[in-house]
Amino acid sequence: MPSFLDTDIKYLKGVGDTRAKVLSSEIGVATFRDLLYYFPFRHIDRSRFYSIGELTGTDLPAIQIKGRFISFSIEGEGARKRLVGVFTDGRKMMETVWFSKITTFSTAYKPGVDYVIFGKPNFYRNAYSIVHPEVEVYDPAKPPTGFRGVYSLTETMRKKGYSTKILQNLVTNLLSNKGFDTIHDTLPDELLDYYNLMPIREALKQMHFPENSQKLQKAIERMKFEELFYVEAHILRYSMERGSKLPGFVFPKIGDKFNGFYFNVLPFELTGAQKRVLKEIRADMKTGRQMNRLLQGDVGSGKTMVAFMSMLMAVDNDCQGALMAPTEILAQQHYSTIKQWADPIGVNVALLTGSTRTAARREIHEGLLSGDIDIIVGTHALIEENVKFHRLGLAVIDEQHRFGVAQRGKLWHKNEKVPHVLVMTATPIPRTLAMTVYGDLDVSVIDELPPGRKPITTLLRYDSNRLEVDRLIYSQLREGRQIYIVYPLISENDKLELKSLEEGYKRTCDTFHGYRVCFVHGKMKPEEKDHQMDLFVRGEARIMVATTVIEVGVNVPNASVMVIENAERFGLSQLHQLRGRVGRGADQSYCVLMGKAKSGGDTKKRLSIMTETTDGFLISEADMKIRGPGDMEGTQQSGLAFNLKVADLARDGQILTRAREAALAVLRGNPALLAPGCIPTNPAAGDLHPIKVAPQSIGIMAEELRIRFARTLDWSQIS
Ligand code: ADP
Ligand code: MG
Repeated sequence: MPSFLDTDIKYLKGVGDTRAKVLSSEIGVATFRDLLYYFPFRHIDRSRFYSIGELTGTDLPAIQIKGRFISFSIEGEGARKRLVGVFTDGRKMMETVWFSKITTFSTAYKPGVDYVIFGKPNFYRNAYSIVHPEVEVYDPAKPPTGFRGVYSLTETMRKKGYSTKILQNLVTNLLSNKGFDTIHDTLPDELLDYYNLMPIREALKQMHFPENSQKLQKAIERMKFEELFYVEAHILRYSMERGSKLPGFVFPKIGDKFNGFYFNVLPFELTGAQKRVLKEIRADMKTGRQMNRLLQGDVGSGKTMVAFMSMLMAVDNDCQGALMAPTEILAQQHYSTIKQWADPIGVNVALLTGSTRTAARREIHEGLLSGDIDIIVGTHALIEENVKFHRLGLAVIDEQHRFGVAQRGKLWHKNEKVPHVLVMTATPIPRTLAMTVYGDLDVSVIDELPPGRKPITTLLRYDSNRLEVDRLIYSQLREGRQIYIVYPLISENDKLELKSLEEGYKRTCDTFHGYRVCFVHGKMKPEEKDHQMDLFVRGEARIMVATTVIEVGVNVPNASVMVIENAERFGLSQLHQLRGRVGRGADQSYCVLMGKAKSGGDTKKRLSIMTETTDGFLISEADMKIRGPGDMEGTQQSGLAFNLKVADLARDGQILTRAREAALAVLRGNPALLAPGCIPTNPAAGDLHPIKVAPQSIGIMAEELRIRFARTLDWSQIS
């Protein structure tokens, strides 16, 4: 006999065969469990009026507030143009926002009239606001209509007469079934206590029929935690099991090459963060478990050095290292940097790109196969079929977001044994999010820049300041520095944009005649692009006028000014990446954001974040709040291997962090949750204490994992 939760929905009072078919085909509710977890997509609290001052938390239901409008103003532009109404309940004020029918709403509501506004308060930049509130004139005679959830229903269901009311009745029947009181908590008591979570039965009741908004928020928090806990447990468990299934090279020794470089060649002191990350990598390479690590570090934080020294660990243990870059220019840059470091210690480095000539190419292929070449730097050319290695021990991939997961997989087939993989990226997505999005990659972070860098001065300027900007460029040119001027080119086929770019180039040549200007955009032939880039890298051209093709990785320490035209058209993270192209030397650098003079407060607010901070993580978080995580570079192509019902990765970062910590602690404390013979370790866990749970909880958790992830693919099998 199936358990209470697995009971077919048709046996629920009020359902029967016909309704069971509809519920199952329309909204996937086939069992009692499905219905219990079919939560209202929103909650409405019309039981009373709220005051603005009492709003707390981020999971508020839609609520009503009585008060008056004080003023209306239009802000922002383009897609973000909006009407902002200031509303007061007599004590405090909040904003109400409309993105459409702006003209209508701006005159619809009169001062001095009592209104009731209704909607879900959003918490953003330390204040609550309601977007597109329902507004009606206050009517003292109107009775309160209560606190309820609203269920999402399909069109077909509506036609058949289904309503929220009917769903509510069914859920009521389920909650009052005596079987409901026998269901186990899906999380062990140890976690409920430690994280102060609402027990499952209480939480389920509150999700469907909240008593008040505090209890609803506790219930939502609990359900989010549960969901993320199991996602993390699934990812971590898979990662731990992969560790025992996929043996990696063991690099036990730190040898002559590494030490020789460290003591005699290394041109500067490593930063604390570089040292820590190298230790993390070294620890991974000793375990016998294949390393799969994401190295995040802001632009200019010194990832190349970490990559090189990690490859030396491989070389010292009779293996080879490969460094793959997304563009030819970057590969060349890496090659010349690394060659300088490698030559003095007798490590043999080669460069392989699309433009390597046939004879040289053949020689390189041979060198890789025989093991004569220790380190190979290159582009996609490295993953071509005919490139074979003697013993590839470590593959480093620079600037991850330009490589698809499938391409990464190709490197795996170069060996009998899978090499360690280090993926480097400057896209600063929050740590826990990265680990969740990238699945079982471990994450290292370089959160410190090399010393002696002067913070970049960021200026927000307009066309009316053009002369001032020109003067700044002049003075830097006279000091021997180089300048970037970047234009947005969102669609490569937009004639207007291309025109403004070409005009910008002409204007620059005219204004700064006497200085060579190079010109780079995405529509150019690759050879021409490389040639132009090369002029700048070698310092022959002093000014580069370009589109965002320069965004990734070029290192020209002599460049001290980055001018970004039409800055309002770039995302914050992109601006941050561009700004990172300067400030690489010891001199003062400048980033000038050229805005549109008539841009609204909204755009100014957004751009001013750039003038306030150079912290990539803060910027990325602000960007994510504005655009959502789906838009972020690096997260698109990987995609999530699971669906989230209640949690939201962009907003629930804190819960996610706790859920991951809990999942690690539980897996460590209870090896019975893992496949036999699997090592329950994870270097990223540091000194986290294991949490041991009661034996019956182990069974329950294993069952939850099975139910929740039975249908997800095993991504390790796809490559
Ligand atoms: P990114 O992380 O953006 O790839 P790079 O590896 O290109 O950064 O490093 C940026 C610059 O900083 C390079 O010129 C590099 O030689 C220098 N650098 C790296 N580490 C240090 C350090 N510990 N001290 C001083 N300079 C460093
Ligand atoms: Mg780099």
